[in-house]
Amino acid sequence: MSLDILAIAAHPDDIEQTCGGTLIRMAELGYRTGALDLTAGDMGTRGTPDERLAEADGAARQMRLAWRGNLRFPDARLENAISARMTLAVKIRELRPRVVILPYWEGRHPDHYRTSELGYEACFLAGLKKLDEYSEPHRPYKIIYASLYAHVTPTFVVDISAQFETRMQALLSYRSQYGARDDASGLFPDEQEIRERLGAIARFYGNLIGVKYGEPFVTRETMQVDDIVNMGVRSI
Ligand SMILES: [Zn+2]
Repeated sequence: MSLDILAIAAHPDDIEQTCGGTLIRMAELGYRTGALDLTAGDMGTRGTPDERLAEADGAARQMRLAWRGNLRFPDARLENAISARMTLAVKIRELRPRVVILPYWEGRHPDHYRTSELGYEACFLAGLKKLDEYSEPHRPYKIIYASLYAHVTPTFVVDISAQFETRMQALLSYRSQYGARDDASGLFPDEQEIRERLGAIARFYGNLIGVKYGEPFVTRETMQVDDIVNMGVRSI
């Protein structure tokens, strides 16, 4: 298995919210995309882990992923331990992605920033020849960070105007999380609410590059430009 792009996230449905449109767009370009969720969301109030895994498979089909997996690490108490780093590093060696998408390295939920840290360190470990005798070394060429919920200025924004509705359908595959229910008592967003909220966020980031809907990313490295005559995003 060799992927062009692998998105790594803490919980099933994180990827759909933060970089799903980009994954769909890249699949449309012919790239092999994958998603690796570290937990099955077993601490979630709604739905069982098995339900969420089945829903994640449905969302994977909507997003045209070539591969999706779940490491079943413990939800809400994810730790950056050596065993977790090794498991993830070996998975990266098997999948051999050129680009890895991680959550932004700061955030409200500990699982999200730990996933960022775990993913970053596992990408490094994956490149070490002597790490594991049963798999070939592989270090991804590029790591980018999905910053949708991070409130930081993005390094770049991907235009997902044409993919937005499919991304929404992928997210709504998680019926256990986003279906309107009587017992929700205001704790869980119903479908209309989630549509409005994600629509507003995607409009905000789209507006930064002059398109309808966008998804933001941050890189640690400076972006290179070779042709300043043909740069995107018009100045005012
Ligand atoms: Zn999450």
